[in-house]
Amino acid sequence: MPGRIAVSRASSDHEILTAVDAWVADHVPEPWRRASAEGGRDAIRRVRSRSEYEAWYPTFADSGLAVATWPVPYGGLDLTPDQSRVAEGVLARFNLGRLNPLGLNSAAPALFAFGTEEQRQRFLPPLVRNEEKWCQLLSEPGAGSDLASLATQAARDGDEWVLTGQKVWTTWAHVSDYAICLARTDPKAPKHKGLTYFVVDLHAPGVDVRPLRHIGGEIDFNEVFLDETRVPDNRRVGAVGEGWRVAGATLAGERQMVSGSGSGGVDRIGGSGVERVIRRARELGRHREPALRQRLMQLYSEERIRGWTNDRVRATILAGGTAGPAASIGKVHQGSLNQRIQLLAVDVVGPGALAWNGAPVSTIEEWAESLPFEVRGMLRSRANTIEGGTTEVNKNILGEKVLGLPREPDPWSGKPWDEVPRS
Ligand SMILES: Cc1cc2nc3c(=O)[nH]c(=O)nc-3n(C[C@H](O)[C@H](O)[C@H](O)COP(=O)(O)OP(=O)(O)OC[C@H]3O[C@@H](n4cnc5c(N)ncnc54)[C@H](O)[C@@H]3O)c2cc1C
Repeated sequence: MPGRIAVSRASSDHEILTAVDAWVADHVPEPWRRASAEGGRDAIRRVRSRSEYEAWYPTFADSGLAVATWPVPYGGLDLTPDQSRVAEGVLARFNLGRLNPLGLNSAAPALFAFGTEEQRQRFLPPLVRNEEKWCQLLSEPGAGSDLASLATQAARDGDEWVLTGQKVWTTWAHVSDYAICLARTDPKAPKHKGLTYFVVDLHAPGVDVRPLRHIGGEIDFNEVFLDETRVPDNRRVGAVGEGWRVAGATLAGERQMVSGSGSGGVDRIGGSGVERVIRRARELGRHREPALRQRLMQLYSEERIRGWTNDRVRATILAGGTAGPAASIGKVHQGSLNQRIQLLAVDVVGPGALAWNGAPVSTIEEWAESLPFEVRGMLRSRANTIEGGTTEVNKNILGEKVLGLPREPDPWSGKPWDEVPRS
């Protein structure tokens, strides 16, 4: 395959190191390499814009290194987890974050575990190259934590399904091409049993994507209306009525992404890491204040522990295991940790972090643009304990699956979905 680096399971670690080094020298743009050598990952961020990185990204994907453990036909190199770590050791210096995180962390695990060979060949290579972007149509106005109670209907019509309903909080739907979607195919079955999992083309007739603004004024998520949207049966993932099981692969992947242990290159959702906050405290001469130092040190330690825990989860996954409940532990910890870091960042800046700096603005875009970096991060981080499953719900999962506590009582368990009261 063009651009693919010539390594395989038969390669020694030394051969992998040599091949990846050579690939970096030939393909990673020279200013990024120089910045990495002079100032590490932060320096790269300064010389590399997001659009530049996106334009270059297919080169990275074509090398196979973006998903090195995946089989070759889907865009990987079929390396073992240990071999992939050797390659990652070289790449880490250049901060090559994986694009299309919901594709990689949510859609791909479901396609690997339950998709057909035809679906994998059709969808995975363009997903890896970030040529087709993905989002997930799961939550609805009346179904978030209790996702299995969702009401979007899918009715069979020959070789197609007709989907009608409303989804909400759909991150990146306004820039996506495809979505994974959970819909109800049997309202007479108990709620978990009557669901089926589909791949929906967001450019198909009947799909209406309406952007929503979050508290920081930016557009990240959307409401999506499906009005008799037709989905061919060959875009169904898994068996009819098995959607909840397929969604299991998706949801663990999303929790890993939000906890920072997933493959999306998203280490933190909203704001900066503690090291940057420490640098800012130094710039402002506040790093000698004892109370502030104590908070900085505590969060720095916690962030390091979070990073090591994420490394452990990644290693388990690379070794062929599953994240399991560890994804929920990471999700609960990362959500609150990031919120505390961003609040500290605002405290360090003090009055300079006022959300409105007095300059006149006439549109919400101008206001969002005018927000200090720290305020933007702090506002965005408020969602960390909600997105990917709320902290309360993840604690329920931990209570039941890790601590073995009794399940939450459900008086409607086993009853047909259409007889159960809904919000
Ligand atoms: C930034 C952001 C991005 C998102 N992106 C997506 C996306 O791309 N795709 C998608 O499908 N969804 C997305 N979501 C939706 C997200 O998954 C839901 O918001 C979340 O699961 C909570 O559902 P809800 O908002 O309906 O709240 P509800 O389920 O109505 O919960 C309300 C409150 O009740 C608590 N609660 C509910 N049930 C229990 C219980 N059993 N025990 C204890 N407490 C409980 C909750 O913790 C919460 O505090 C996103 C949300 C956010 C904030």
